[in-house]
Amino acid sequence: MNELIYIIIALLAASVGSVMLSGSLLVLNQKWLEKLSGYLLCLAGGTLIGSALMGLIPESMEILPVREVLIWVLFGILFFFLLEKFILWRMCRDDNCKRQIHTAGPMIIIGDAVHNAIDGVVIATSFMTSVELGIFVTVSVVLHEIPQELGDFGILIKSGYSKKQALFYNLLSASSAIVAGTVTYFLLDFMEEIVPYALAVAAASFLYIALADLIPEMHKETKAKESILQFLLILVGVGVIFLSAASHGHVH
Ligand SMILES: [Zn+2]
Repeated sequence: MNELIYIIIALLAASVGSVMLSGSLLVLNQKWLEKLSGYLLCLAGGTLIGSALMGLIPESMEILPVREVLIWVLFGILFFFLLEKFILWRMCRDDNCKRQIHTAGPMIIIGDAVHNAIDGVVIATSFMTSVELGIFVTVSVVLHEIPQELGDFGILIKSGYSKKQALFYNLLSASSAIVAGTVTYFLLDFMEEIVPYALAVAAASFLYIALADLIPEMHKETKAKESILQFLLILVGVGVIFLSAASHGHVH
């Protein structure tokens, strides 16, 4: 039951917390907002890859054979490809639709609700394995959610929502994490044997977000100095997870 308290705090931090934090960052001017968003994206890229490869996958491998874990990671990557494609189809009515440019507010909100629900499942699953894993997974979620939500605020406001409405709908879509995370807790508590599989699929979700969503975004920046800074920030993200994993004996 103790875990449930941690999970609920983490889910609140990842959903309401990151929306409120990104909402309050809106006072910054556009130039700073974009800079900060870019830096957080890189940090998040590092912590996501680190959490997947040094936290979630090793934890899963302590229970399942290596081969089986990797098959589930592979399955997860294919699943998230299809899921993202499906959401994009629902979102785009015109032919040349790019991920960040769809102007239909409701579709962004729905797409995010699905993504946040998965983050909620990942948070709950990792806390049920260990509190340490739960903490660095939550940090990874908050770090990638802030730039994501800053982007959403921008898009919602551009498509005619007031700041208040944008905040409300962002909170609404973030709350799917709380629902999905809590349901996951009771489900996994009931069927503990699913936990290692859920960890492997959770790792796939983190790898997919980092490699398929965040890195292409980072490559829009091509200046040498900024690119070096990006790489350093990714290293910092990986390093934070490495150090916390090592100090808790996840890295052998
Ligand atoms: Zn997320």
